[in-house]
Amino acid sequence: MSCHCGGEPPRPGRSVEIALIDFHTHSAASDGALAPAALVNRALREGVKRLAITDHDTIAGYLSVRNYLPEGIDVISGVELSCEWGRVGVHVIGLGFDPEAPGFRAHLKRLDGARRERAERIDQKLERAGMPGAMAGALEEAAGAQIGRPHFARWMVGAGHVASEEEAFKRFLGRGKAGDILVLWPSLHETVEAILDAQGMPVLAHPAHYGLTATRLRALIDAFTSAGGAAVEIINGRPKPGEQDMLWRLANDRSLRVSVGSDFHRDSTYGAGLGVDVTNMPSGCGIWEVV
Ligand code: AMP
Ligand code: MN
Ligand code: MN
Ligand code: MN
Repeated sequence: MSCHCGGEPPRPGRSVEIALIDFHTHSAASDGALAPAALVNRALREGVKRLAITDHDTIAGYLSVRNYLPEGIDVISGVELSCEWGRVGVHVIGLGFDPEAPGFRAHLKRLDGARRERAERIDQKLERAGMPGAMAGALEEAAGAQIGRPHFARWMVGAGHVASEEEAFKRFLGRGKAGDILVLWPSLHETVEAILDAQGMPVLAHPAHYGLTATRLRALIDAFTSAGGAAVEIINGRPKPGEQDMLWRLANDRSLRVSVGSDFHRDSTYGAGLGVDVTNMPSGCGIWEVV
């Protein structure tokens, strides 16, 4: 797979037709606020033409809507898989895979177990920090969804341990804190393989969000490329032009395609709304052209 769009990043121009795509969204099957069907309907109303529901380590949301999709929107299979690369927690999005592929299902099952185990370890850490009952509280917040740190954060706010979810991450759950447990995740390599085995496209999610130096970021993208990765997510949430150009070059240098998504979880003042306009992206570069 290669990208033939030259060395210069895309520049905004004038265009009549607006093509909105969103290949990174969350439903209530993981840590999003909207039920999967409500997410699809919202995307349709916002003019999104192609959508992937990319819940953390679960496809339950996608499976629940795939046979009941409205006209006017193309919903492809999607997932955001947790993995580990050199002691860094990395997210790889899978797009357009066969959701029935046995190897892929086994990978998801392994992640269910890892998340459950991680949750138990977070529970122990929080208990030691004077917050007993975190597991039960987080499971109640999750209400059957794939359990994650946001459910712990919400419980901590409700129980009065912290003032906001932001504070919960800053003090207890975020990168480098007690609740940031990486050792249980599959490797980057295994994760890319699991997506490829199911005939899907592996996309490196939000590469600028891992706190890596430029050298380490290049090493990550090289590892992702040699594992068989297909694309780099150059827009995650609100477009940040400098970041987008930097990632576009990193992708282009390795003949990787590019992907875009809102990373929508809920309506918020910081987050982006659904849909990314790809009208001005040069043809031959977007993962949306091949998935
Ligand atoms: P997990 O999937 O359990 O590893 O939790 C990671 C998720 O927590 C991310 O996908 C975000 O939705 C959310 N998150 C990460 N950092 C923060 C933060 N500082 N404040 C609120 N939510 C966050
Ligand atoms: Mn999330
Ligand atoms: Mn992510
Ligand atoms: Mn996400």
